Amino acid sequence: MTEQRITEQCVTEQRREREDVPGHPGGARGAAEVDGAWEALVAAARRTVSDGLVVGTSGNVSVRVGDTILVTPSGVPYDRLTPDDVTGVDLEGRQVLGTLVPTSELPLHLAVHRTTDARAVVHTHAVHATAVSTLVTELPPIHYMAGALGGPVRVAPYATYGTEELARNMLHALAGRTGCLLRNHGTITYGTTLDQAYDRTAQLEWMCRLWLTASSVPGLTPALLTPEQLAQAGERLRAYGQPGR
Ligand code: 13P
Ligand code: ZN
Repeated sequence: MTEQRITEQCVTEQRREREDVPGHPGGARGAAEVDGAWEALVAAARRTVSDGLVVGTSGNVSVRVGDTILVTPSGVPYDRLTPDDVTGVDLEGRQVLGTLVPTSELPLHLAVHRTTDARAVVHTHAVHATAVSTLVTELPPIHYMAGALGGPVRVAPYATYGTEELARNMLHALAGRTGCLLRNHGTITYGTTLDQAYDRTAQLEWMCRLWLTASSVPGLTPALLTPEQLAQAGERLRAYGQPGR
């Protein structure tokens, strides 16, 4: 299909019974897991809009269930997605669930799922993060929460959205990190849970906003953290939120 955007009519036409879809992982139990993961994915995608991290159908979310990657469909408003719209691909990008066109950023999501322990990936066009991506090649370490992303957050060089080139640039920028910025485009983060991936995006956007705010005070320059200070914070953050710490 050359046209990535799908009209509302097409969305309705392309829905079909989930039971008919080949490649449903793990029979009935797998189907229940897929249904739960899809519900969480759609809720997270809707939240990116309500939290102001994207506008309209921008951004995309993926969740891994076994070797199936559930993804948001391309160009479909998140509030229109129903349980029947579940969309999934294998690790090679072949569609195994649903018939809606998978996100155009499949190369980004697949690159992360193939090379890391990610169970979820979140991509947004958050405004402060995108602004920072146009100004620097690395977000200056202004807050210890950079430790939660593995260290100072890099900016991947620009490439056209949806391309393998963008995915390659992103993978370089992600080395040793769980998130990065995409120049003149947005954010990408991953986690071992969808909540973790989402929270990393929210923290990244917040840090970018913090840096823009502090660095725009005339005549003053924000203090930055040293690599040692960030590493120490990162160490403590590994235990943060764990029961009984
Ligand atoms: P999709 O609607 O195809 O997911 O594209 C949105 C986007 O953010 C592209 O970079
Ligand atoms: Zn995008």
